[in-house]
Amino acid sequence: AILAPSYQIDRKQIQMIEALGHGQFGEVYRGILKTEQQIELNIAIKTCKEQDSLTTEKFLEEAYVMQKFDHPHIIKLIGVCTTHPVLLIMELARLGELRSYLVANRNDFDVITLLVYCQQLSSSLSYLETKKFVHRDIAARNVLVSNHECVKLSDFGLSREIDNSYYKASKGKLLPVKWMSPESSVFLQMAVILIVNVLYCFSEGIPNSDVIDKIENGERLPMPSPHCPPQLFDLMKECWRYEPSMRPSFTQIEDRLRFILKTERSNDNS
Ligand code: ATP
Repeated sequence: AILAPSYQIDRKQIQMIEALGHGQFGEVYRGILKTEQQIELNIAIKTCKEQDSLTTEKFLEEAYVMQKFDHPHIIKLIGVCTTHPVLLIMELARLGELRSYLVANRNDFDVITLLVYCQQLSSSLSYLETKKFVHRDIAARNVLVSNHECVKLSDFGLSREIDNSYYKASKGKLLPVKWMSPESSVFLQMAVILIVNVLYCFSEGIPNSDVIDKIENGERLPMPSPHCPPQLFDLMKECWRYEPSMRPSFTQIEDRLRFILKTERSNDNS
């Protein structure tokens, strides 16, 4: 795979500040990148513990994928250091993982904010669809929070084992192994799972993992919380229709979410 030369970064420009967590290949840090124009950018730095070329090549696959995307709700690749130790540098999402953010701020969320997140994520997924990419691992832990009004999709690593025989790896594609049901039209199912993840993280009761199990088993869930707008619940039910061709398209999901958001906002103001 080829990475555009403009992504090569001199490690002298990078300052690591603190560890954010463990990635699959090594520690992830928060840091600062000083550009040639002397601008300081907040960055996240992924490190790769193993230094053999097979592992570093796998590690860099995420960068190869990320360089193709330019969307306001997808974490941007800033660059790489391809000499050892190999680093992957990307835009920092200051507030970390959506899942823990939802839990930590449980009482400060209103329906409108959650709808905004859903809409942002559905726009990033439909963008990926236009690029013919499938995010293989949609889950609230792979959605990061930049600020209270803005979430972004992250984690485009390809390297985890594919454990579902329905989907065979094909070059340049991210495979939706975990959350896909075999008959599903992949993108819709992902959008639904995301929305459900967001909504159910918010509500007490059913643990997230149970939600996924239930949907994969073809069960349908009750309305997530009394605060859930009925139109949103209707949309969710349509997305869960057994017959994939009867489910709304991605564009329709986006439009409907926009409409629900507008209604909620005007209810809020009245
Ligand atoms: P996995 O595939 O198991 O998710 P990974 O190698 O893709 O692992 P991440 O989970 O993406 O690694 O990252 C590890 C930790 O670093 C997570 O806690 C994540 O929230 C944090 N992190 C990753 N990227 C960013 C970013 N751009 N901004 C802020 N935090 C980040």
